Amino acid sequence: MSDRFCLRGCTRRGEHWAVCPDYGREDGTCRGCVQVEARDGALVCERCYRSLRRHLEDAADLVGHLRSLADPTKAAPIARGAGGSRVEAPAPVAADLIDASDDIVRTLRAWALYVQFGEGHPWRVEGLEAGIDGADAYTDAAGCAEVILDALDGIANDSHQSLALCEGVMVVHPGDPDVWSIADAAARWPLDEEPRWAPVPCPACDLLTVRVEPHRGRRPTRYRCASDGCGWEANALDDGGLWSAVFADPVQILADDDHPRHDPDLLTLSAAARVAGRTVGTIRTWVSSGDLARHLGRVRRDDVIAVKARKEGVRV
Ligand SMILES: [Zn+2]
Ligand SMILES: [Zn+2]
Ligand SMILES: [Zn+2]
Repeated sequence: MSDRFCLRGCTRRGEHWAVCPDYGREDGTCRGCVQVEARDGALVCERCYRSLRRHLEDAADLVGHLRSLADPTKAAPIARGAGGSRVEAPAPVAADLIDASDDIVRTLRAWALYVQFGEGHPWRVEGLEAGIDGADAYTDAAGCAEVILDALDGIANDSHQSLALCEGVMVVHPGDPDVWSIADAAARWPLDEEPRWAPVPCPACDLLTVRVEPHRGRRPTRYRCASDGCGWEANALDDGGLWSAVFADPVQILADDDHPRHDPDLLTLSAAARVAGRTVGTIRTWVSSGDLARHLGRVRRDDVIAVKARKEGVRV
């Protein structure tokens, strides 16, 4: 167990240290002052880590979403500040959308460059190219996000970097942000996830308020509590795959019965991702680049470990 606390100062709701004036009271003003432990191997708590991961996983969809809202016809963005006559007019909605997608892409590019080339790299980080269409913006953002997600554990274990990444990714700023974080934009223009409600209570607050967001693209199925102030979330790979069993569809359980007992050394791509500590997308890349051989749709545990070791040797 880690005895470090979340660097962001997260506290346990309703739990107080003995020195707190509200210790033992239910009606005090302190919402809770006992800090939350950091996640193993990280300087932020499990909740902050999972929120970071979720926003990074959604970043490309969000950028595509913002571009399509800003510019449904793929016309050039609305020009601002060209000529003084409109200075006093309220900014058109599209300007906010373009600012937000620009800020997010700049954040993603900056972090992807930092991860790949370190602090002293020579490139200037630009926002989106004017008039770029939603699909290109999506591809660009997705590539950057994948690089950052692959390095997330390292970043989360560095005090300066983890706070800086939280600021750009998961912190929601009140009002109109100076720089839009991913969470700011997601709160203003939510992605339409079409979630369903899980029939099983939240493991943190015990209410029937867990929403299941079906897996999309490379991202596993996600479980998030919607009750006020709870904030519990997990995905189908977390905690050894526990939550996919807890929240599983009866249909999935039946389907598993039809496929009894695989060789335990042959892993699904999700299991391989867990073993390698990488995303399923990365494992899929290893397969398609020929680094990793596929057997009956699965991959060998030993191969996964060998490729991971080789990649990390190369990755400096
Ligand atoms: Zn307290
Ligand atoms: Zn935290
Ligand atoms: Zn909850």
